[in-house]
Amino acid sequence: MSEWETVVGLEVHVELATKTKLFSHAPNRFGDAPNTNITPVCLGLPGSLPVLNRRAVELAMTVGLALGCDIRPSVFHRKNYFYPDMPKDYQVSQYDRPICVDGSLNLPNGTRIGIERAHLEEDAGKTTHLGGEDGRIHGADQALVDYNRAGVPLLEIVSQPDIRSAEDARAYVEELRAILIAVQASEARLEEGSMRVDANVSVRPAGSQELRTRCEIKNLNSLRSLQRAVSYEAQRHIGLYEAGAEPSQETRHWSEDGRTHTLRSKEEANDYRYFPEPDLVLLNPDAAWIKEIADTMPELPAQKRDRLIDVASVDLETAATIVNRGMSQLLISAVDEGADPRRAVTHIIQNLAIDGADELDPAHFVELVQMEESGDLTATQTKQVLGEMVTTGLDPGSIAQNLGFESMESEQLDALVDAAIEENSEAWEKFCEGEDKVQGVFVGAVMKASKGQADGKAVAAILKQRRG
Ligand code: MN
Repeated sequence: MSEWETVVGLEVHVELATKTKLFSHAPNRFGDAPNTNITPVCLGLPGSLPVLNRRAVELAMTVGLALGCDIRPSVFHRKNYFYPDMPKDYQVSQYDRPICVDGSLNLPNGTRIGIERAHLEEDAGKTTHLGGEDGRIHGADQALVDYNRAGVPLLEIVSQPDIRSAEDARAYVEELRAILIAVQASEARLEEGSMRVDANVSVRPAGSQELRTRCEIKNLNSLRSLQRAVSYEAQRHIGLYEAGAEPSQETRHWSEDGRTHTLRSKEEANDYRYFPEPDLVLLNPDAAWIKEIADTMPELPAQKRDRLIDVASVDLETAATIVNRGMSQLLISAVDEGADPRRAVTHIIQNLAIDGADELDPAHFVELVQMEESGDLTATQTKQVLGEMVTTGLDPGSIAQNLGFESMESEQLDALVDAAIEENSEAWEKFCEGEDKVQGVFVGAVMKASKGQADGKAVAAILKQRRG
């Protein structure tokens, strides 16, 4: 049986988080009423002229530098095509001279994936087909078009065909997304379309260096779809080769029935008749501007993970979960302030996988961990207080008080322990003879008498003390 290797390159489009569009002052905003965020520039009306958005260029450079790219002088081109979602009948994009080239992205597992380029371009509008299946064009009898998205700044990030499995394709997009969010370049929401993934998939005999015919799967809008589509497509190619056939180069569509389907045969670059956009000049960021961007680069996810591993002694997977949930600063502050790292990590992983947890006040979180450590709150109470902290934003002391979780005064607790010993004198004799397992009798009695407010550990400590 022959062995096959999967070869994947990914093209990821991300909407840049600017206030306005790439070449006009129309707002860049998701979810507004259709066809309200439009200027003559967005529609390509005669006499309108594009003005390049400085912030979009800065964000493109930020992402490029975060991916280790060189920032180059770049040229905008017109890419001509005739779909109703593009009112101008061309898209302004960068073609042979993109702004960012030759970078790389390291997956958390250590695999290095080359980045060929990242270029700026404008988004198209959004077409909605009615009357067909799943909003698709086939069988539809109406098409509605919304130009709010036309002209929104996109960065298209193109990887080298260095990805060797569906799992790594997913890990690449996860890591890229974490970087985009860390540098605040994009909200990178796959489900809202602010991050869109196309996968170029082929297979080859393991060990060979050739690149065989690839198929491009368009618009994968979740990590799960990406992983399933890549693995399906690779199997499809293997099946064709093993049957003595060959895949043909084409664009395919992933449908949730678990298959890819032919969409169209792949366009060649010359189908688009690229030519330089005559209304824009060369974009040539000077060294000082590039340095300014580099100097303000925030900490990237890989660095954050390393720091968590160092500060809180967590494993890589735990560190990645905490970073991806935006909780690394909370953990680091908590440990800095003297919280027990293990306890803090446990809460973050197990009890804080909830909306709004990333906005938790670190000082409140430390206070809570310390209340638990000192026995003022039981584990169950701590968890409940934590949930309230996220929803109300209040400090743990007030919440514990509101919930009636005040720790028992030690005299009160002493009295309850005395009563429990008196009521269970036989068990007490056994305990004094060293039979530790009867301890539960007393702890249970005290818990019952205190309606669950006593701290089991504190009771156990008193019992050991009494036994002498
Ligand atoms: Mn593109």
